[in-house]
Amino acid sequence: MKQSIYGMTFDQLTDWLMEHGHKKFRASQVWDWLYNKRVKSFSDMHNVNKDCIQLLEDNFVIQTLREEVKQESSDGTIKFLFKLQDGNVIETVLMRFHYGLSVCVTTQVGCNIGCSFCASGLLKKSRDLTSGEIVEQIMNVQHALDDKGQGDRVSHIVVMGIGEPFDNYDHTMDFIRIVNSQKGLAIGARKITVSTSGLADKIYQFADEDTQVNLALSLHAPNDELRTRIMKVNKAYPLDKLMPAIDYYLEKTNRRITFEYIMLRDVNDHQKEAKELAELLKDKRHLSYVNLIPYNPVDDHSYQRSEKEAILGFYDTLKKNGINCVIRHENGTDIDAACGQLRSKQVKKERKKKAEAQ
Ligand code: SAH
Ligand code: SF4
Repeated sequence: MKQSIYGMTFDQLTDWLMEHGHKKFRASQVWDWLYNKRVKSFSDMHNVNKDCIQLLEDNFVIQTLREEVKQESSDGTIKFLFKLQDGNVIETVLMRFHYGLSVCVTTQVGCNIGCSFCASGLLKKSRDLTSGEIVEQIMNVQHALDDKGQGDRVSHIVVMGIGEPFDNYDHTMDFIRIVNSQKGLAIGARKITVSTSGLADKIYQFADEDTQVNLALSLHAPNDELRTRIMKVNKAYPLDKLMPAIDYYLEKTNRRITFEYIMLRDVNDHQKEAKELAELLKDKRHLSYVNLIPYNPVDDHSYQRSEKEAILGFYDTLKKNGINCVIRHENGTDIDAACGQLRSKQVKKERKKKAEAQ
């Protein structure tokens, strides 16, 4: 199967073209067509010579994702389901904020971390996405914006879709290098956020990358007993392994980290947990903030979202203890915008159809 041209970093493409007898500047031209003029076929790259176009066509494809479903919400959120070349489906979400347009990308088909509250974890990982498939999600959204003709540009990226990005580390990092490159989309590193469920060894590795990309940690509980109950990954990386990795990250980068905390009714939303959380984070409060996330109910899970009073009470306690904290505004709740929800519905629908056909 030919690979996606979007999976090549600028340096990789330059080397590859030179190895195949082409001049160095061809890579700049090709990238300009891909990311600035945003053509959808090699033959539209008018200043690239015929030999080079033929070579590219023989070895790469531009579009490997096919748009299956596109749902637009009243608040401007657009949710896409894309079919990959092998038939798997993934989802990508575009959200509109006052500061710009943010795209939430998927990094794996399914997720093996299997958090108890998450729709993505319901479906086992069938494979990692390639860096090209992750970049293509951004390009497909950008092409959809281009088609609207309003000059909108994707300005922010959150790696918070289906999958655990640090379980697909190299492809995720290549993806970031590609969208961040000045020669291409030039999306600033500070406008990109990667979220992890807490793979401590990869947090060390990420801290050692010389990058300004933001890190978010899905904490969701302030003690091991509760965290292991809702996130089984906590068995492999309990808090006494995870927190030193976070400290290392903070020391190395001096960048602020986001702690994500889903509010699950009567599970992790009591005053007890708020106080414990404040205690856990007190020595790093100058470089952190907590994002309280309203839970998006998932069909097959029994959790419920916290009452408003519990969320506000939790927020107050954190604030009183000097912890920076925000309550996350929700986008696209009318279109299953919680991570993995649309996909899991679609997969179930297809399985049902298959079962009925048998
Ligand atoms: N695997 C990574 C990134 C993808 S999940 C991680 O876990 O961090 C992105 C965020 O969505 C995580 O904080 C995750 O805990 C949260 N999430 C998962 N299911 C959710 C749901 N049903 N409602 C609200 N947030 C959810
Ligand atoms: Fe995977 Fe993140 Fe969902 Fe956990 S919350 S199952 S790590 S996608």
